[in-house]
Amino acid sequence: MYRTKTCGELRLSNMGATVTLAGWVQRSRRMGGMTFVDLRDRYGITQLVFNQDKDADLCEQANKLGREFVIQVTGIVSERSNKNAHIPTGDIEIIVAGMQVLNCAATPPFTIEDDTDGGDDIRMKYRYLDLRRHAVRANLELRHQMTAEVRNYLGGKSFIEVETPMLISSTPEGARDFVVPSRMNPGQFYALPQSPQTFKQLLMVSGFDRYFQIVKCFRDEDLRADRQPEFTQIDCEMSFVEQDDVLCMFEGMTKHLFKSIRNIELTEPFPRMTWADAMKFYGSDKPDIRFGMKIAELPAELLRGHGFAPFNSAAYVGGICAEGAAAYTRKQIDALTDFVKRPQIGAKGLIYARVEADGSLKSSVDKFYSPDELLRIKYLFGAGPGDLILIIYGDDAMKTRKQLSELRLEMGGRLGLRDKNSFACLWVVDFPLLEWSEADGRFYAMHHPFTSPKPEDVHLLDSDPGAVSANAYDMVINGVEVGGGSIRIHDSELQQRMFRLLGFTDEQALARFGFLTNAFRYGAPPHGGIAYGLDRWVSLFAGLDSIRDCIAFPKNTSGRDVMIDAPSTIDASQLEELNLSITAK
Ligand code: ASP
Repeated sequence: MYRTKTCGELRLSNMGATVTLAGWVQRSRRMGGMTFVDLRDRYGITQLVFNQDKDADLCEQANKLGREFVIQVTGIVSERSNKNAHIPTGDIEIIVAGMQVLNCAATPPFTIEDDTDGGDDIRMKYRYLDLRRHAVRANLELRHQMTAEVRNYLGGKSFIEVETPMLISSTPEGARDFVVPSRMNPGQFYALPQSPQTFKQLLMVSGFDRYFQIVKCFRDEDLRADRQPEFTQIDCEMSFVEQDDVLCMFEGMTKHLFKSIRNIELTEPFPRMTWADAMKFYGSDKPDIRFGMKIAELPAELLRGHGFAPFNSAAYVGGICAEGAAAYTRKQIDALTDFVKRPQIGAKGLIYARVEADGSLKSSVDKFYSPDELLRIKYLFGAGPGDLILIIYGDDAMKTRKQLSELRLEMGGRLGLRDKNSFACLWVVDFPLLEWSEADGRFYAMHHPFTSPKPEDVHLLDSDPGAVSANAYDMVINGVEVGGGSIRIHDSELQQRMFRLLGFTDEQALARFGFLTNAFRYGAPPHGGIAYGLDRWVSLFAGLDSIRDCIAFPKNTSGRDVMIDAPSTIDASQLEELNLSITAK
């Protein structure tokens, strides 16, 4: 037996016990004839003591230990005179009587401690060492607890976990596919699933009734802090359900996770907001409702004809009211102006108005408007003394609202309204079914082509498809879209119409999705579901800024795994076997 105890479990109550521990040398220090070693394993850190006077040989051996050596020690648990309140084992130490070096270690390229000196690149290259750091491992432990609790909850509600294949053909979730050449079928490719969408629907046709899967999905998209080319979904589907049934079931799961993982009791039903309201009042389909600061639109009749050219020509003018920010200096406002004018945001400018202590408005457009008109603006925002109104204008209402959304989030952050430890959950419902692409001159499915239109809107499918609402919903927590789903089309006729609207000919639809529409001919139950992004949810619970930190072996922003150096070229013989040839572009 290599050990009798772990490095995280000994306390004063173990005093006097003889124990054997095994682990890594985090650091050692010598002080007046004594050598102290911090021994680390997954469970914690225990201080070892070697005494020159008592056993000079053993102490000599200890002095030779390098960082990250793997050792086994036997000794007696004793009370520490110099206690360390920062670690759970800080009251005790081990007076070592015997030691064995199980393995030496090269000097690690960065210090393996919570506060490391290693930059991002080096830590990713040596990710197996990075994962020894408690803070990083804790994120993966949290991830494990979450999947265990998901299985607990869904298992308790009769969901069964079914694996679906990874080598499939294209699934239309709107991203590019990763493809895999087939050796046995020359010139043909599998696609990796962007989600198990069609398979889970087929499982409903098969009568599985309640399915879930914690599953890897693959999307070839540009990467961001909350995107990885491979990510994990908690994918779920239910039969004989309406939208409300799905929302209730998964609101329950969310509450269960909050309670079991964060010990937060959410007693109130989650608010539901229509997509139209989310866009109107927050400029985003994933509003962060930890704080108010809703967007207000300023009517053209109030603004136009006063000689302020930008307002005269703008198609949309709107703003937010930042409570208590009237004391913002010129410099701070300039910084905000630069922020909204950044190319990623693209606003033309920023107008501000301070509400003075006497209730009057002091603004950058004072000379164009009478005090009465300025007061009307103040009332539109419900602003009071000490508040700062920030206004953006633009040629396109949707674009300008999105710019205001960025400004709102920025101000929320600056004013400390986005506390990582407070959580606000929200359902966004009633998404449009379709989205018009100006560039391509055609409609795209806003969610995916299997989402059902609201029955009351079906009659508009041919006459005014853009006005059709979908039975689709997203769950948003703190401005992060953690999950989304829909009630599905289960009628092959309607599904066919939907494919036509999306620009597929009947032949194309048959070739790509014939298996599904065909399955619907054999008695498909009404069904619907949802998928959660596990990585996003874990990083939200762990208070992380990037999902990479809760993934054991993530890719960098160029989609590379720098540790194993993937992707990489393959041998000419492999290419030949796959019937592929590469031509340099
Ligand atoms: N397959 C969908 C997605 O990946 C989720 C769903 O509709 O259940 O977003």
